[in-house]
Amino acid sequence: MASSGQFQLSKDAASHSKRVIDYVIRGPGRGKAFERMSDFVDCFSSRMAGTRELECAIDWAVAELRTSDFLDAQTEEFRMPRWSRGLEEASIVSPVRRKLSMLSLGYSAPTLPGGIEADCIVVHSFNELDSAAAQGLVRGRIVVFNQPWAGYDSTRQFRNHGPSLASKFGAVAALVRSVTPLAVDSPHAGVTLFDAAGATASPIPAACLAPDDAEALARWQRRQQTPRIRLSIQCSPTELDSIRSRNIVADLPGCDPAVAHELVVLCAHIDCWDVGQGAMDDAGGVFVAWEALRTIRQALQEHRTRRTIRLILFSGEELGLWGGRLYFEAHSSELAGRLSYMLETDGGTFDPRGVTCSGSAATTAALRTVLQPLESSLGACNVFEKLDGPDITEWASVGVPVGNLVTQRTGESADFYFQFHHSRGDTVSVQDPFEMDRCTAVMAVVALNLADASTMLPRGPEQAADKEPRLEA
Ligand SMILES: [Zn+2]
Repeated sequence: MASSGQFQLSKDAASHSKRVIDYVIRGPGRGKAFERMSDFVDCFSSRMAGTRELECAIDWAVAELRTSDFLDAQTEEFRMPRWSRGLEEASIVSPVRRKLSMLSLGYSAPTLPGGIEADCIVVHSFNELDSAAAQGLVRGRIVVFNQPWAGYDSTRQFRNHGPSLASKFGAVAALVRSVTPLAVDSPHAGVTLFDAAGATASPIPAACLAPDDAEALARWQRRQQTPRIRLSIQCSPTELDSIRSRNIVADLPGCDPAVAHELVVLCAHIDCWDVGQGAMDDAGGVFVAWEALRTIRQALQEHRTRRTIRLILFSGEELGLWGGRLYFEAHSSELAGRLSYMLETDGGTFDPRGVTCSGSAATTAALRTVLQPLESSLGACNVFEKLDGPDITEWASVGVPVGNLVTQRTGESADFYFQFHHSRGDTVSVQDPFEMDRCTAVMAVVALNLADASTMLPRGPEQAADKEPRLEA
């Protein structure tokens, strides 16, 4: 039977929260999330789905959860498409000759073995693409999207959908300005879709360019000197359902027989792109969520929570949220009625500002009381009404409140994360031990107080996830 009645924190919520915060900010837990994350990404740097390195990282994490945390960690296998990077190169060959900084996009088609060479047409919007196509300037050419940065969700539409639109107009390849606010000659990876919204386009070679190079090509076009580009991409062609990966699920069991079947979920994704170390995206999230579980157990040794706290480390996120989607498909009917809240951390583990939450005004009001104990020591007690959390948003469609940890490096813009996202710059050097500790404290306090509250979080109306195919954070 589900818990019912008014949502209230347990009478020990304030004192337990304080012990958890002290343990991780000033006590034996201090610096642990950063230290463990660093050890992990230095050993398993390139955790792209379909690689042996990722599966070894998953094996290591499962063994560690079992032997160091004494948790009954399990894996759940799923299948997803295979795509892998090979040799790749792009150069401008006229009116000047030099190499361009590029990375092919996930699900790009390969070029012919010797590469291709074509004039390019630079556009800055989908409207410009339409009018260039109407003037016959797209067929047979390489389309370069040089869209301005307008925030991640808006700008990534060019990477997600630009190449397929270019393909429909007869382009031979597409190059997309990297989805980042920062131009330091660095390309940022990501996936592109050729079968979005049921409108299938023939896959063409597609890559992202450093913003600096996309702007340089636009300048040549403004001088009315059409840039000519040579492009070689030797990636694997996309093969559906051809690789397997695994989500990791580990429970800290609840002790109250009336509500131990109810769950609070902390989650992150263990896979990453094949450039950089995936320290920020999303090993930081993995170790903050994992340390939150450890902290609850070690800071409150005599205490067992009423509800079960579940850690889920999703796989296959970067190539299209495969692990999250398949977890929902496998478990939505069984779990929808007994999930209090699912909290992902996949937006950086900088200074925590609070969490997002789907649901109703009653959901956010209750969640504010859950975060209240953080206010005096960390100030990180905001609840933002927003449907967010890349691997878990579908759960909102069956009424489960879901959210993402909200963080921002103090003194930097909210876009700081996207200066490093999916690039060679996503390394341990971006992370900060004390920021990660504060994130751990937020995750631990949320999980602890929800697991011990009188009822599950109040729910709102069911919220449909985006109609557009959703991609990685
Ligand atoms: Zn991510």
